[in-house]
Amino acid sequence: MIVVMQEGATEQQVDAVIERMVELGFNVHRSTGVIHTVLGGVGGKDDFDLAIFEIMEGVKEAHRIISPYKLASRHFRPGGTVVHAGDVDIGGDAVVVMAGPCSVESADQIERSAEIVARAGARVIRGGAFKPRSSPYSFQGMGQEGLQLLRAAADRHGLRVVSEVMDQTQIALVAEYADILQVGARNMQNFTLLRELGRLRHPILLKRGISATIEELLLSAEYIMAGGNYDVILCERGIRTFETYTRNTMDISAIPVVKKLSHLPILADPSHGTGRRDKVAPMARAAVAAGADGLLIEVHPDPDHALSDGAQSLRPEQFEELMGQLRRIAPAVGRTI
Ligand code: PEP
Ligand code: MN
Repeated sequence: MIVVMQEGATEQQVDAVIERMVELGFNVHRSTGVIHTVLGGVGGKDDFDLAIFEIMEGVKEAHRIISPYKLASRHFRPGGTVVHAGDVDIGGDAVVVMAGPCSVESADQIERSAEIVARAGARVIRGGAFKPRSSPYSFQGMGQEGLQLLRAAADRHGLRVVSEVMDQTQIALVAEYADILQVGARNMQNFTLLRELGRLRHPILLKRGISATIEELLLSAEYIMAGGNYDVILCERGIRTFETYTRNTMDISAIPVVKKLSHLPILADPSHGTGRRDKVAPMARAAVAAGADGLLIEVHPDPDHALSDGAQSLRPEQFEELMGQLRRIAPAVGRTI
């Protein structure tokens, strides 16, 4: 359930409502907005009379939330959520571009990548140190050494870092080097991992599963938020359909759907979404036009020799050209880059 407090409700009034919610068995999550404080209650009884809350001092309205996710629902924060990763705001006016190679491969490769993406205007560098590869014989990532190289290159170029965590044993290590922890598509329903990430206070980039519905994506976000970590960034990265021309089918419509259902920021990953370098820019442009809060894009200094996902990685000059186009598209939909 959700209780929206009136503008100017006192702390005492808020506390009284929280107390009543707790009495009814709810776990209370508080969101203090610019105008209204919203109290989200999860896990309580559902056979009580809403009027109990509606007549309380300082209460504007009370609702039952029928969607299976509560904290991820737009009702919880009608004004939207801005996630802060250092000096980078995700979900605000600016479209945030996160770019870099699929994997960290060497000191030289990641340094060149950082220089390229920073110069073109990305704010965050991506790069996997732990890689979820379909085959156990493919390159699996550089592990801790990769994280160290990524962090150092990012710091030299004023970038924030996003990197993937594959299981709960890696959380502490990845959190030491990365500003944002990525949960990959294959792990979207690794509930043990999601619960552990709920205890962390780092932003989480949660990618949509390969065959996951939007509701399942939001329920996975709910797992993280139920632990008290509200800094979740969603990411549409293409889903599996009967189409084989592209690696996945980039579901652009997920962007406005998520915007309506949830307050969480949503990014688009046109690299995994299409799997083909020549299709990345059109999908990136479409995603920004559709209202994405940011992009996750694979860029490699020498994609023909990349150890993973070279075919979908942009060449440096292609990325620069795309950024120029996005700077023209964003203002048309009321955003900046
Ligand atoms: C990645 O970002 O490199 C990655 C493995 O993505 P996904 O989990 O979406 O396949
Ligand atoms: Mn990749």
